[in-house]
Amino acid sequence: MNNSGLEGVGIYKVWGIGSRDWRRKRGMRRASEARRAEREGEEEARMNADERGRAEDAVEGAGVDMAGAKLTIRLIGMTPNAVDVVYSACRQCYSPAFAGDEFRPDASVQGMKKKEALIRKVVASGHESPLEHVSMTFAIRGISRSCSLQLVRHRLASYSQQSQRYVNMEDFGYVIPPTIEGDKELREMFVATMEDIRQKYHRIVRALNGKGMKGELANQDARFILPEASETKIVVTMNCREMLHFFSVRCCNRAQWEIRRLANEMLRVCKEKLPSIFGEEAGAKCQKLGYCPEGPKNTCGKYSLKEELMR
Ligand SMILES: Cc1cc2nc3c(=O)[nH]c(=O)nc-3n(C[C@H](O)[C@H](O)[C@H](O)COP(=O)(O)OP(=O)(O)OC[C@H]3O[C@@H](n4cnc5c(N)ncnc54)[C@H](O)[C@@H]3O)c2cc1C
Repeated sequence: MNNSGLEGVGIYKVWGIGSRDWRRKRGMRRASEARRAEREGEEEARMNADERGRAEDAVEGAGVDMAGAKLTIRLIGMTPNAVDVVYSACRQCYSPAFAGDEFRPDASVQGMKKKEALIRKVVASGHESPLEHVSMTFAIRGISRSCSLQLVRHRLASYSQQSQRYVNMEDFGYVIPPTIEGDKELREMFVATMEDIRQKYHRIVRALNGKGMKGELANQDARFILPEASETKIVVTMNCREMLHFFSVRCCNRAQWEIRRLANEMLRVCKEKLPSIFGEEAGAKCQKLGYCPEGPKNTCGKYSLKEELMR
């Protein structure tokens, strides 16, 4: 599948700190990233490695090595012939014909326009079950554990998350909230806390290793001190109906900033890939409702409250 242009990159950074031991690993990581970039010919991967290198080099003198990585989402899979599949499902509801015959992959402009028009009409009417036949799979990195906890609350989806048991977390990156990033004193305290946790994690792993517990046996207990800020990587698959629901609650200004940013990036990719499903009304629920259901205390003010419209 050609994924060009289907990748979203957020604007905030994930940081990791290194000292001597980690500096060696950092060198290995940079080398392996460079090899990967060469192997796959991925200009983007090379730029990430270079950017990270620059960030690390910039603070070397301060004795704090930072490894920055951006929020990255990549569409790695999607139901083939998605428009045809949804169209056939829609037609099956209203047609005496058989969906197996209706399903004719037709990429002509005329054919696509006809199908997309029907899909738009059906989505606008709130008849969303045909959308369940198409799924999208995203690989996500550069989000905090805290964000992933919110993500996995969405039950009608499938997840595969990097394990803190099978993967040693001594080199963990972390997300700094913008409010803390923008305050020198808070940022210093935050970074120092992360470094402290890293060193203690390292000590616990070594101590458990000394008691004969290696690999996952040590990692699974040492991870108890890791912060919610620590970076995670996750693969998520949602069908399009669930995606619309996810966007309706997580693109809302009331949602927490990190998951909102993630949702907005995913929405951008969905709009690009399937505009007939993720049209103008896709996004925060107010966009479809035309009013804000959050009440006077929580509304962001972008739309009128329901009670104001009812007056
Ligand atoms: C602003 C905000 C604040 C939040 N604050 C909190 C909080 O303080 N504490 C907290 O615990 N959570 C909180 N959440 C999480 C929230 O309660 C939901 O767990 C989360 O948004 C997942 O949404 P969902 O259950 O609608 O969606 P999904 O799990 O994605 O399900 C989609 C839809 O399927 C249906 N569905 C799924 N499972 C069932 C079921 N078992 N029974 C019936 N219908 C089902 C529902 O219609 C549901 O809306 C918050 C979410 C937001 C956006």
